[in-house]
Amino acid sequence: TDGSIMLGELDVIPQVDAEGNVVRILGVTRDISEQRRFEDELNRLAVTDPLTGVWNRRQGENLFSADLSEARRYGPALSLLMIDIDHFKAINDRFGHQAGDYVLIDMTRRISANLRSSDALARWGGEEFVVVMRHCTIADAIPLAEKIRALIADTPFVDVGTVTVSIGAAELQPDDDLSSWLHRADRAMYDAKAAGRNAVRVMPRLTD
Ligand code: GH3
Ligand code: MG
Ligand code: MG
Repeated sequence: TDGSIMLGELDVIPQVDAEGNVVRILGVTRDISEQRRFEDELNRLAVTDPLTGVWNRRQGENLFSADLSEARRYGPALSLLMIDIDHFKAINDRFGHQAGDYVLIDMTRRISANLRSSDALARWGGEEFVVVMRHCTIADAIPLAEKIRALIADTPFVDVGTVTVSIGAAELQPDDDLSSWLHRADRAMYDAKAAGRNAVRVMPRLTD
């Protein structure tokens, strides 16, 4: 034979030198559409969060940086929401990690259902999500953030009951980079926590 071993849909072909040592291994899929599916799947895994299916943080950073450079060049308004689940550790402790995972899944579903196709949602950390809304001033972002807050707080989750989120909102300012923009949204989110949670806050404050 040619020394190839079939592993499922993949042909694995060890290349040997004159002494019979394996110098490299080739993986060959049998047809091009199969190889495309394999590459598409690898690409999808690289950019999404495995639990919730939304963009992972690295992909979020790439997308939001691109949005930011475009907004700085062409000037469309851009707003960002930092969404953090309230007392999530207590939910895990009380109902188990699996129930907590289901909250994360259902939460992304609820948020996604209320975004426009031009908005992007990424899982930023364990129980933190970032939404970037294109062509959206802070005045447009606040009602959307409030809507997201309410649709989470007002409909109980399976098994665990009521879950709430704190949301910080920030509009891109001309001198922002991604880090300063995120930092303002983060500070606003902590304002919402300090105000008693299940709340939306803005930075800089509208009165500033
Ligand atoms: P706060 O209201 O101040 O945000 O309190 P908190 O309990 O939400 O915040 P804290 O940062 O103390 O806890 C976050 C918890 O999120 C702790 C961690 O176990 C949990 N967590 C992080 N990632 C996952 C996950 O993928 N699945 C589950 N079930 N829990 C997770
Ligand atoms: Mg957190
Ligand atoms: Mg939290």
